[in-house]
Amino acid sequence: MNHNEMLLLKLGEVVLKGLNRRSFEDKLVSNVRRRLKSLGSFQVYVRQSTIYVEPQKEECDMAAALAAARQVFGVVSVVRAIPCEKTVEAITAAAQAYLADEFAAARTFKVESRRADKSFALNSIQISQEVGGNLADAFPHVKVDVHHPDLTVHVEIREKHAYVHGPAISGAGGLPVGTGGHAVSLLSGGLDSPVSSWMMARRGVQLEMVHFVSPPYTSQQAQDKVVELARLLTAYCGAMLVHIVPFTEIQEEIRRRCPEEYFTLMMRRFMMRISQAVAKKAGAHALVTGESLGQVASQTMLALGVTEDVVSLPVLRPLIGMDKVEIIRTAREIGTYETSILPYEDCCTVFTPRHPAIRPRLEDVRAAEAALDVDALVARALEGETWVRVKP
Ligand code: ATP
Ligand code: MG
Repeated sequence: MNHNEMLLLKLGEVVLKGLNRRSFEDKLVSNVRRRLKSLGSFQVYVRQSTIYVEPQKEECDMAAALAAARQVFGVVSVVRAIPCEKTVEAITAAAQAYLADEFAAARTFKVESRRADKSFALNSIQISQEVGGNLADAFPHVKVDVHHPDLTVHVEIREKHAYVHGPAISGAGGLPVGTGGHAVSLLSGGLDSPVSSWMMARRGVQLEMVHFVSPPYTSQQAQDKVVELARLLTAYCGAMLVHIVPFTEIQEEIRRRCPEEYFTLMMRRFMMRISQAVAKKAGAHALVTGESLGQVASQTMLALGVTEDVVSLPVLRPLIGMDKVEIIRTAREIGTYETSILPYEDCCTVFTPRHPAIRPRLEDVRAAEAALDVDALVARALEGETWVRVKP
């Protein structure tokens, strides 16, 4: 590794935020710092819509830093770059040494330049022409091809230095976590809710998780799996709290006193009530679920209305219009798929009605629920709540 090598992180939508831009950038810088802390000592700062990540010691793990930076929301792309003096000669020498392997593998190349420092004597076209000419002399086997080059050498003239780098690698995009409010996400062990959580975090939402457990019907492994899913998400979202709420008594009461066709809907109504209570204590302003229209009987439009009836906070359902294949593709991309498919029971699958109501009427569900002491059940579930804090 070249010991000067550093990372440049390009900001996406953050750039568009007008007056809020400063606070978005500050949030992003602190998220990047926090994410890189365990990987070595890095200096992280922002200039002209770019975050600079400079290793302070030889032992910094640059490959791991690059992988981590790609997962930070608000970063659209990442490049490994080297700084050099702001002269054509220094830029040529830097590109020649730093990209020697890439040049050896290429038949054609071009230079693409950006001049953020407008006081630099050459404009971007002139820089590309001069550096490109020098590199063509230095590597006689490669030819310039401005349309379809094998290799693009990027040159950026910035405040203190010039920077040379190869191709950019895509980042996670979205907005920095912490700039989009605070929500409580209902996390089960399935495929959907880790994806819905990730999607809201990508819009800048800071999350806490709620997970309902029904021992002895659900196992410790099932709970551990959900905590592991939350931990996988921290690579993107940062450290977070997982609230574990006992749900056995509620489920047994529903089974004892209510019509079977409404079991799932009534469970979901209790989950919403309890999650809203958790959200209010946490100062959160919305709930997030992994529901997708029509996926199961409890996710028809009427069923969603019945579920939502018991809460006043907005219920965010980022998967509402997504197909299962798209959800699975995302789960694979974000790395939750393999854990989600581990075969453990979720409390929702423990008491599944044989014939769930497809067109539930709100009055009927409310009437059936009148057989229960709802407030006392909610209060006792909340008394039994425990917490786990998960970190990257
Ligand atoms: P998932 O794949 O996320 O489990 P699902 O398609 O299996 O979703 P349901 O089981 O009907 O759907 O659950 C719908 C949503 O309710 C989930 O996406 C999740 O947000 C929430 N949920 C379900 N079970 C639990 C649980 N045990 N703890 C917390 N939230 C849950
Ligand atoms: Mg489920």
